[in-house]
Amino acid sequence: MNKIYFDNAATTALRPEVIDAIVESLRNDFGNPSSTHAYGRSAKSSIELARKSIANLLGCTANEIIFTSGATEANNWIIRSAVRDLKLQRIISSKMEHHAVLYAVKEIAQEYGIELVFVDNDKNGHINLQQLAELLQDKKQTLVSLMHINNETGCILPIDEVAQLIKENGAYFHSDTVQSVGKLKIDLQQTPVDFITASAHKFHGPKGIGFAFFRKGLLTNPIFFGGEQEKGLRAGTESVHNIVGMQKALELAYERHDEEKAHITELKSYFISRLREVYGESAHIHGHENTLYNLVNVGLPISQEKASMLLFMLDMKGFAISRGSACQSGSPKPSHVLAEMLDDETIKFPNLRVSFSHDNTREEIDLLVSELQKL
Ligand code: PLP
Repeated sequence: MNKIYFDNAATTALRPEVIDAIVESLRNDFGNPSSTHAYGRSAKSSIELARKSIANLLGCTANEIIFTSGATEANNWIIRSAVRDLKLQRIISSKMEHHAVLYAVKEIAQEYGIELVFVDNDKNGHINLQQLAELLQDKKQTLVSLMHINNETGCILPIDEVAQLIKENGAYFHSDTVQSVGKLKIDLQQTPVDFITASAHKFHGPKGIGFAFFRKGLLTNPIFFGGEQEKGLRAGTESVHNIVGMQKALELAYERHDEEKAHITELKSYFISRLREVYGESAHIHGHENTLYNLVNVGLPISQEKASMLLFMLDMKGFAISRGSACQSGSPKPSHVLAEMLDDETIKFPNLRVSFSHDNTREEIDLLVSELQKL
């Protein structure tokens, strides 16, 4: 049976070079980075080299990067510490955010008794920037939290424009950049965003590791209390091999970016042309003109009966595909993201989220399309 992986927005396969770097670190760098002897110093130096390399790629300084267990932790930490330490009166966000932000802003706003406002969006996943600008005019102490790339639809926020607007109005800007780090080059020197987050497993690195970027001076209080790791801001022995693996994964993503982007972009447009051949205009490509080059979220003109079997049938044939975010994949409820974008008729069409990587091929797309044709 074929085994075809089209779920790269959920997670990605580790690159062989990343596995090698991790194994090498596990084998040779097992010292506790807090120990003062040579073993400890070596592990500590690996962490600091990784921090420098990552900071360099993103255009920030090494002390603005804090390693975390992943993006859920980083998003929660940023939102909580911003509300608490920057004395916020309000959070502005969107109902299309990943739950790692959506549930966090709801909980934290309630806990601290501050205002929470959601900006509107249109059917293509564009955030209403006019409304955002109007909201910001009152100059309340505000954190705006808007994701760069939506993990279900691939919809892109014009991050530079949004960052500029927020800065001009004296508010703070957090962007969940989990789906863009490693795929789009973010330059933190040019884009005045205050906080971003990343997760290595989304760019062919290991799971359980990510980072938060806090613009200088904006992070003052720890997330956990304990040891002095991460300058006392995040206590707990560092996951050295995962940090090294993340560094390698990001370096390779940057090194191979142009060539891989061209390949994946070509796959995406081939897939869309095949969908058009089979379904014509009755296949709804959600957010079409406004999506990242690696993802197609398509509503298919098939009956609900067939739809309920769709993922199961594709799984049986060896295709790994999902409908929305991995944490919701088993749920019969429609995606909260599509529910915000689509009208009552369009949302009835069963959808698939097909997300590509550099490893995919046209032949794999042909196999998928021929399975869909059998429905
Ligand atoms: N934010 C987005 C946009 C995501 O796609 C994900 C991953 O599913 C997360 C946050 C959570 O990241 P992590 O798996 O590192 O906790």
